[in-house]
Amino acid sequence: MSLLVQKYGGTSVGTVERIGAVADKVAGFREQGHDMVVVVSAMSGETNRLIALANDIQERPDPREMDVLVSTGEQVTIALLCMALKKRGWDARSYTGGQVRILTDDSHTKARIQEIDEANMRADLDAGRVVVVAGFQGVDAKGNITTLGRGGSDTTGVALAAALKADECQIYTDVDGVYTTDPRVVDRARRLEKITFEEMLEMASLGSKVLQIRAVEFAGKYNVPLRVLSSFKEGPGTLITLDEEENTMEQPVVSGIAFNRDEAKITLAGIPDTPGIASKILAPVGEANVEVDVIVQNVGADNTTDLTFTVNRGDMNKTVELLSAVAKEIGAREVSGDDAIAKVSIVGVGMRSHAGVASTMFKALAEEGINIQMITTSEIKISVIISEKYLELAVRTLHSAFGLDAEVTA
Ligand code: ASP
Ligand code: MG
Repeated sequence: MSLLVQKYGGTSVGTVERIGAVADKVAGFREQGHDMVVVVSAMSGETNRLIALANDIQERPDPREMDVLVSTGEQVTIALLCMALKKRGWDARSYTGGQVRILTDDSHTKARIQEIDEANMRADLDAGRVVVVAGFQGVDAKGNITTLGRGGSDTTGVALAAALKADECQIYTDVDGVYTTDPRVVDRARRLEKITFEEMLEMASLGSKVLQIRAVEFAGKYNVPLRVLSSFKEGPGTLITLDEEENTMEQPVVSGIAFNRDEAKITLAGIPDTPGIASKILAPVGEANVEVDVIVQNVGADNTTDLTFTVNRGDMNKTVELLSAVAKEIGAREVSGDDAIAKVSIVGVGMRSHAGVASTMFKALAEEGINIQMITTSEIKISVIISEKYLELAVRTLHSAFGLDAEVTA
């Protein structure tokens, strides 16, 4: 008998029938004697619908009112799930974030959890009830409703599991685990039995959409055993573990290939090669809240240099505009933007103990005639920026070059 926190995403509770199926699943775990805390998202599409309503009224609505609005999606699903459980003969009680008392800071629409009061949940569990909690929301010290950012129900699940010291946090979603890469791009992608937190964090920040990054960070920080599973298909899913040793035994050098199309690169050409230039360029970019990712600088023969860096695609135009003034000021020849690029990354803790991973990667791409525009590395990943039109080819090529392709069973 154990305490499980399960989180069901929007697709899993997308219709009344699916909410019934979740209730059946939860009832099954109760029957086996587990204590259950269930976190749910809003029905799929609901959060987007609410945001669109707000935007019909105002381009940038007040963030406090936005949180009052979008938190309603989850309030609908907690009540419906409790009804479905009661109909099946199981006692259950729903809680909004504020009713649990998931205390957050006051940064509306992107609040961070500070403290969770477990008393209400414990009392219900002791009384044999299923506890159903609205994901994605909390309350600040003054009692204002807050939300945790898009996809924030994952974080709610992990945070509750940490607070209650649950035996496992299980994230039920529409895929049956974490894959070596996106199966929609590579049909021979494989489900991973296990992946380390570190790798999962890289995969999530490099574009894999399976889990919200903050949820993975949280789980790593508080040692919450985390499992990703499908709501629709039986199976063990993927366990995200802290135990690297155990994991590296038969672990390949590369565990997964991540990619991201939401990239654009900005180049300042012909800038004077003098100290302080990079900061003159990048400081205003940071001040404008634009996140800079890969940075490359080349030195030319004539005492000038080119600086290229990547930003999120949606920030490209604003960044080029902003830097046009800076370019004039520092005497740069030209500022240009290119949004037809993408980033492909190989990720694996096994890289630490293996040399030659980068050359395998570059050779595989070269053999397909794919030009690498920029490179960045860390201890457990190598990312390259390439032309977007080669993205799928690059992902497939690297997937097989690193031995990740599933055996064909035919
Ligand atoms: N409903 C929220 C969203 O769509 C939170 C979540 O689903 O995790 O972002
Ligand atoms: Mg989600």
